[in-house]
Amino acid sequence: MKAIEVKEAKKIEIVERPMLKIENKDDVLIKIKAAGICGSDVHIYHGTSPVAVYPRVIGHEMVGEVIEIGENVTQIKLGDKVVVEPIISCGECYACKSNRPNACSTLKVRGCHVDGGFQEYFVAPEKAVFKFNDDIPWEHAAMIEPYTIADQITWRADVRQGDYVFIIGAGPIGLTILEMAKLKGGICIISDFNEKRLDVAKEIGADYILNPSRCNPLEEVRKITNGMGSNVTIDAVCLPQTFEQAIEITSVAGRVMCLGFTNEVSKIAQLSITLKELDVRGSRHQTFKFKNVVELFNQNKLSPEKLVSNIIDYRNIDEALNLIENKPEEICKIVLKFED
Ligand SMILES: [Zn+2]
Ligand SMILES: [Zn+2]
Repeated sequence: MKAIEVKEAKKIEIVERPMLKIENKDDVLIKIKAAGICGSDVHIYHGTSPVAVYPRVIGHEMVGEVIEIGENVTQIKLGDKVVVEPIISCGECYACKSNRPNACSTLKVRGCHVDGGFQEYFVAPEKAVFKFNDDIPWEHAAMIEPYTIADQITWRADVRQGDYVFIIGAGPIGLTILEMAKLKGGICIISDFNEKRLDVAKEIGADYILNPSRCNPLEEVRKITNGMGSNVTIDAVCLPQTFEQAIEITSVAGRVMCLGFTNEVSKIAQLSITLKELDVRGSRHQTFKFKNVVELFNQNKLSPEKLVSNIIDYRNIDEALNLIENKPEEICKIVLKFED
């Protein structure tokens, strides 16, 4: 079987690997059909991931068809269309015991610490796979995992009915956050330099779109909220200065969401957090969100078709990476297809 392997930083190849087999009685064997390319896959390829180990089969947004099941598998059946949850946690540490296995002290992520979904077949325990409806196209289903991340972020942000939610950045993460925040009743403002992405944001329900090349977004947010500021600010750009802006524009008793992996320092005075009694919260991966997001997909409540901009055969991974590196303004989400 074929797999996309990052041998070391900046060296990616399609390799032949031994066919995977069911190893444990609760495993299922999946024929991968589609998998989205995430920013973190690109980081692993570039050698800028703080956590990845090489060589690695990347990919964690994978969906496929179940073609074999172990003898202890009870819910999943042959032929089921499934999505695989990427995180593997210990169950013992403080985070795990606090019902937050996504922050496990020894967390392993498929496609990062262990091999992931950019391969023709995949084996996972039944508890890590979730079945979705047959009528959902593979390339849209590959968006289930990104929406679980957005579900997590908006849950951590405690988005409530009528909250003003300011999302900085309208890339795939910002756009999925927008949809989840709308479902939770937020009034959503989103900013980006890319007009195409702002158009998509408008189509999927943004109440206000802001282009910082034409306005001062913070002033606009103040105007929109009658001087209050946003109740929830989600920084999906993750630069030192966007984090500073998020702290500045958030209202009293508001929440600021931090998603970045940068080591660069932001300049933030304690006073700005204390005075407004802000909650500054991190969010990484997701906890127990697949069930909810699969249900939303089954009910056709989300718009993955608006976010997937390119569907590319996995054998053309170089072409996909080339688009991400050289024409980021022309793409949104790229999904690799693994069907023959
Ligand atoms: Zn991802
Ligand atoms: Zn743990």
